[in-house]
Amino acid sequence: MIGIFGGTFDPIHHGHLRAALECLEQLRLDQIRFIPLKTAVHRPPPVASPRQRAAMLEAALAGEPRFILDLREFKRSGPSYTYDTLASLRAEIGGSRPLCLLLGSDAYAGFLSWYRPLEILRLAHLVVMHRPGYPPLTDTALADLYRERACQDSRELALHPSGSILLYAMTPLAISSTQIRALIAAGLSPRYLLPDTVLGYINNERLYLP
Ligand code: ATP
Repeated sequence: MIGIFGGTFDPIHHGHLRAALECLEQLRLDQIRFIPLKTAVHRPPPVASPRQRAAMLEAALAGEPRFILDLREFKRSGPSYTYDTLASLRAEIGGSRPLCLLLGSDAYAGFLSWYRPLEILRLAHLVVMHRPGYPPLTDTALADLYRERACQDSRELALHPSGSILLYAMTPLAISSTQIRALIAAGLSPRYLLPDTVLGYINNERLYLP
């Protein structure tokens, strides 16, 4: 099974990395592809450039060969739709291998407003990771979708290529890129919220300063 972890990664932090490692091990994924988005659809544009976000991801993922940096969204023009990303992956790997799209509960809250959400579920499973401060099933439509697609045991994900939703209770880590950018802008250190190598890069590039 392949895990797909999309995001702005502006910057990548230990909330992302721990979430990915727990999913990798608990769901027995072969690999996780980190796919930074180029053009945000539902949020303001990232502060760091694509080149800088790729460099930070490369530094953070070094040393874990099952974490793979996948820059396919940087190579596409127009908005970075997850549907298009999954469709292009499916074209490469075929229809039978299970794909798990990992997303935090804050991202799942907006899932039904994404481009072609139900078609996304034809291409991949969803693994919704609890994120502190964001209960995953507040909205009725999302709760209904979950009831229809719920998977209680992660081993079931391996039995089908797509279509199920698993709620995954990861170790709660209330770290966000917004908080890291705000700390740097305020002249405070974000150390220990993200890898030192990533922080070194941020300092060298003078990123996120006011
Ligand atoms: P920002 O604060 O700029 O919005 P972020 O910290 O939410 O950034 P993103 O790159 O937008 O990070 O997130 C990518 C994916 O990782 C999303 O699915 C998000 O829900 C998930 N995620 C981010 N931080 C955490 C965390 N601490 N715990 C669980 N999931 C997380």
